[in-house]
Amino acid sequence: MIDKLKQLEQIARQHLEPTSEQRKFLTNKVLNYSENFLDNIYELPAYVMEEKKGVGIYDSPIAESGIDIDSAIKLFKENVDTPGLNPASGGHLGYIPGGGIFYSALGDFLADITNRFAGLFFASPGSVRLENMLIDWMASIIGYPKSSAGNLTSGGSIANLIGIVTARDAKNLKAKDFEKSVLYLSEQVHHSVDKAIRIAGLKECVWRYVPLDENYRMKADELEKQIVEDKKNGLNPFLVIASAGTTNTGSVDPIETIGEIASKYNLWFHLDAAYGGFFALCDEGKKVLRGMGTSDSITIDPHKGLFLPYGLGTILVKDKMKMYESHYYLASYLQDALNANDELSPADLSPELTKHFRGLRLWLPLKLVGVAPFRAAIEEKLLLARYFWEKIQTLDGFEVGPFPDLSVVMYRYIPKHGDANEFNKRLVHEVQKDGRVFISSTMIDGKFVLRVAILCFRTHLETVDLLLNILKEKAKMLEQA
Ligand SMILES: *Cc1c(COP(=O)(O)O)cnc(C)c1O
Repeated sequence: MIDKLKQLEQIARQHLEPTSEQRKFLTNKVLNYSENFLDNIYELPAYVMEEKKGVGIYDSPIAESGIDIDSAIKLFKENVDTPGLNPASGGHLGYIPGGGIFYSALGDFLADITNRFAGLFFASPGSVRLENMLIDWMASIIGYPKSSAGNLTSGGSIANLIGIVTARDAKNLKAKDFEKSVLYLSEQVHHSVDKAIRIAGLKECVWRYVPLDENYRMKADELEKQIVEDKKNGLNPFLVIASAGTTNTGSVDPIETIGEIASKYNLWFHLDAAYGGFFALCDEGKKVLRGMGTSDSITIDPHKGLFLPYGLGTILVKDKMKMYESHYYLASYLQDALNANDELSPADLSPELTKHFRGLRLWLPLKLVGVAPFRAAIEEKLLLARYFWEKIQTLDGFEVGPFPDLSVVMYRYIPKHGDANEFNKRLVHEVQKDGRVFISSTMIDGKFVLRVAILCFRTHLETVDLLLNILKEKAKMLEQA
């Protein structure tokens, strides 16, 4: 037994605990790769279309013994860090762009090395306080009171799920009530809202898609009309979901008016501001987003509007007890916690128990550079979208959608001959194949529409000018083909 233990210990020590020397060697290899990546990030393509699509990963299966770091990095580079989209690139102007500020990586490194248990206050009071401080800070941006609570999630999808589950329970909905209960949303909500409703068991509720105006914003008067009618018919309107920046068109629903209606008819108001919420950091954005504080719960994604690497969304709920009542496990434990210091633990506000200490990847950048650069960068994105909206109209053949509420612009090319949908499909393909920038497309009212979404912190005036040139060049090429 002792011999066996010694033998096992020796293997564990030798391989799971690198020496200081080995750590330096490995860290240097990873740092060299990272430094090289960052030194070249403005030249690296935003999109790489190639045949193998990372299949080489399968050629090196998981095995009993390891490989050296150079081989591992090579596998990563060729199969992972080459094909497809490069969200760290400022040229990523499709979907909702990513980011990946450097300071967050340092925060993640510290979080991983120290491995604090950030799920429960008693295990790591400082981690929980740090995350709660960030939640308070975000609540103040939204216009929520001190009595609100929140949770740092993996992203906006889980945040929406927590918000909708909280709404269901706050309105005391039971299975027998579902068929008579009504939720209101727009055709333009993110599909994660759709998923969240179904996962929350609310698929059988009555879904009302509120008509949209010409800017793809929910028509508040139609919402009210529908609620009144539903009530008259003996239904139970309980939830309205609006967007502060739809993913597709960047539209901001009339938040303040929806908030008034929700409160007048006693509906829960969930606001999906995953993409748009942090535009409230700048004055122009704040105007567009007026009224966010009238919601009951809100999703806001630091891995979008604060340019963090993927893996950080946030749900905020105005009435913290409602959030707690939907997600706690040990009530007796929480009573003490609440009385003792009023600190809620993440484990009591989300489905997760053990979790990544996500707060550090947000806290470190905010502490190291302060809020001011984030305000500047988000305002820059807003203005770049307006700049693009103005410029694209001056290019021959291009028509443009509504003036952008935030940083998504819709546009398309009208060819001299032939089908516009087909032409724009080819145009987006050509731009993606070129790879210097990446744009995406969408269908709006049966039209194939191109969109630019500006949110990467590395996207600047020269990136937008480059896109304009590429569009001009590719449209001309296709016209002549
Ligand atoms: C991105 C997005 C989501 C989903 O968030 P994830 O972080 O991708 O899970 C939800 N709603 C909106 C409006 C979004 O833009």
